[in-house]
Amino acid sequence: MSYLDEVLDSVKEKHASQPLFIQAVTEVFETLKPVIEANEELYRREAILERLVEPERQIIFRVPWVDDNGQVQVNTGYRVQFNSAIGPYKGGLRLDKSVNLGMLKFLGFEQVFKNSLTTLPMGGGKGGCDFNPKGKSDREIMKFCQSFMTELYRHIGADTDVPAGDLGTGGREIGYMFGQYKRLKNVYEGVLTGKGLSFGGSLARTEATGYGLLYFTKEMLECNGKDIKGMTATVSGSGNVAIYAIQKAEQMGVKTLACSDRKGWIYDPDGIDYKILKDIKEVKRTSLEEYVKVRPNAKYTAKAEGDNMDHGVWTVKADIALPCGRENTIDIEDAKNLVANGVIAVAEGANMPTTIEATKYFQANGVMFAPGKASNAGGVATSGLEMSQNSERLSWSFEEVDSKLHDIMVSIFHAADDAAKKYGMEGNYVAGANIAGFEKVVNAMLAQGVC
Ligand code: NDP
Repeated sequence: MSYLDEVLDSVKEKHASQPLFIQAVTEVFETLKPVIEANEELYRREAILERLVEPERQIIFRVPWVDDNGQVQVNTGYRVQFNSAIGPYKGGLRLDKSVNLGMLKFLGFEQVFKNSLTTLPMGGGKGGCDFNPKGKSDREIMKFCQSFMTELYRHIGADTDVPAGDLGTGGREIGYMFGQYKRLKNVYEGVLTGKGLSFGGSLARTEATGYGLLYFTKEMLECNGKDIKGMTATVSGSGNVAIYAIQKAEQMGVKTLACSDRKGWIYDPDGIDYKILKDIKEVKRTSLEEYVKVRPNAKYTAKAEGDNMDHGVWTVKADIALPCGRENTIDIEDAKNLVANGVIAVAEGANMPTTIEATKYFQANGVMFAPGKASNAGGVATSGLEMSQNSERLSWSFEEVDSKLHDIMVSIFHAADDAAKKYGMEGNYVAGANIAGFEKVVNAMLAQGVC
């Protein structure tokens, strides 16, 4: 049995209760075959793959807080410090009732490769809590964030581990967490990214993941002889990544026809108006149902209770599909619908929104497929730029950050494209991104000895 298969089997056996982590490791390992085979003896002796799948540190803690009725609530908090070979741990904090260790290990593992691809010196980590922010008052959110940080603060720091936002954690939550960190540590430092502009945040960080996704997609299309202008798109999700992807798409001349949230999805033949979407999701924090009240041509379809998928959105005919909600929301049936409807490109805004089977189906049918660890890296790249500004104690203009983001996304595309070509897999950006991210991290690990 090959070294790679041996380690993959042991991950499957040891972490059988963590299906998302197994899925992420499988997807990466399958594409690393040529690199591993070329260095099998060295990697086996140095246990490179075993070290790569074992987080350096996993912290699990109690998060008690008091709700508005005086009732004590208890949640479970996590920080997975996955790999610090190329820089301090960096990765978001997910607040969602579905959060568990396996989910955060999948996200942390992906983050290691993604951060490596950005060209910035950042290791990989991820954290979060099984706290459900939905329906909580502002005060409850604050009390939760303060309690969460009361434990987390001892494990993080500007040169150690720099968390950021993720699903369920936006500017409001980062603000409350930063306030508590400062209070506990009595240090004013760039320990979190995604901060408010008046206290160390970077311009363009809010927009970065969505904008970056479109910069990547445009470059990928252009390098395959297609002009993005005039195309149509469908998007899943309607949160931070989705909103700014839709905005940038519009600026590039792309009409977005559909998007979704947990409860349903909207179809707007005139193109989704991102300003209305922003108001509904960022200001009013309510359901997409509100959208059709102000856009009479649009149609809202509710999902069945407990439906975690985005099937409806993927039945709409469009040139580009941009999954920006959450993991595993394009399955094989969705992939078949999209291909039958002539989709040209699928670019992941979310982390692992496409199942392995669906990804392979796209690739087998000539659809350009951009994996999230490359195409959604704009968020963490701009977080890296926020860290640089904090260290310099300077703030760069929106245009300066946006232009750096653009260049980073273009360079990530070419790193993935070149690595795929180098190993004879031209056009396989999944393999290219994994290989490019892997090589840099592994070289650093080898140079640093057994640690
Ligand atoms: P948000 O919380 O801002 O938005 C998430 C969106 O997804 C919301 O519209 C939410 O619906 C929707 N959603 C959640 N669960 C489901 C579901 N089961 N079915 C359909 N829709 C669902 O998160 P972000 O936009 O920040 O993150 C989205 C994805 O992008 C995540 O995978 C995240 O890890 C990834 N990502 C985010 C980055 C960032 O900078 N924010 C960077 C890189 C990746 P509702 O509005 O009803 O809550």
